[in-house]
Amino acid sequence: MRAAAAVLLAGLLLGQASTPSVRTRTNDGLHCLHWPVAAGARGQLTWVQSSAGDPVLGAGALDAVTRSGQTWETQLQACGDLDLVEGTRSSSRSIGYLTGGPNENLTLFRSQLCSSVVPGNDPCVAANTCANAYDCWDHPADTVALTTTTYQVATGALLDADVEINAASATPTIVDSPPCAPSALSTSCVANDVQNAMTHELGHFLGLAHSPDPSSTMYASEPIGETSKRVLDPGSKQFVCDVYPQGQASQDCGASSGGTTGGTSSSGCSSAPGGGPLAPGWLLLAILVHRRRCTPSCNPAGEAVSEGGRRALPHPSGSAPPELGSPR
Ligand SMILES: [Zn+2]
Repeated sequence: MRAAAAVLLAGLLLGQASTPSVRTRTNDGLHCLHWPVAAGARGQLTWVQSSAGDPVLGAGALDAVTRSGQTWETQLQACGDLDLVEGTRSSSRSIGYLTGGPNENLTLFRSQLCSSVVPGNDPCVAANTCANAYDCWDHPADTVALTTTTYQVATGALLDADVEINAASATPTIVDSPPCAPSALSTSCVANDVQNAMTHELGHFLGLAHSPDPSSTMYASEPIGETSKRVLDPGSKQFVCDVYPQGQASQDCGASSGGTTGGTSSSGCSSAPGGGPLAPGWLLLAILVHRRRCTPSCNPAGEAVSEGGRRALPHPSGSAPPELGSPR
């Protein structure tokens, strides 16, 4: 009897600790994104921060981003075959992937809205290149950060990943407490915690999609004042062990296996539904939903497709969970 109870308890504990992560798939759904590491090797993935940082928060914002990287690196050290290494600060302000390079895996803060600085007739609007051209936030105003990854469609091998943080219409903060009142956001309380958001984004960076579990680092939204995503949930930790296993090659997934359940669009280059009006229940949330975006390089049959992540895309009906509708 006691043994049976112990087994049951163990099962419950295992259940609690095994909330599955969800992997991001290629547009055709046949592969899962991963940084390639050969069997028996240890990979090194270098990423850099824009030296411009955040003009309001100063050096503390850069430190917060660094801590997010260290959180993943700690887990990679524990069971992974890859190291996430922060390199020297960069003067670049451009996200995306250039065939032939040069490329960097870059994180940066965008401090102005494209809608405020880009003339409506600028060709960059149609070309979807205003973010780099004007150094502006070209995503929904209620999104707090977004990751753009580029990968090989035929294998899921990642080529490049960049993270933009919204310092234009969101309120990035770096203090630990107290949570801001939603009606009184400031940098002296926790509004959109930089480390919280960046830890989530670096999950996308490594190949994770959104989790339906509200307690997960990879859950698609964050309420004002949240800092819990700074700490990796068990499922996200397990992702590292499973996809980047020590001594083995990093892992793809089969077309009918792997962790992806709902959420990853297989709609090729079609854009996800636009951000409809926010339902009242979401007004206090910074929603972190992905949206797929076509770029000039977007070619389902080609070698590389860029996709963005972590954008505000409330479900048109406002029904929960909106984050499962259209990751990236
Ligand atoms: Zn996200």
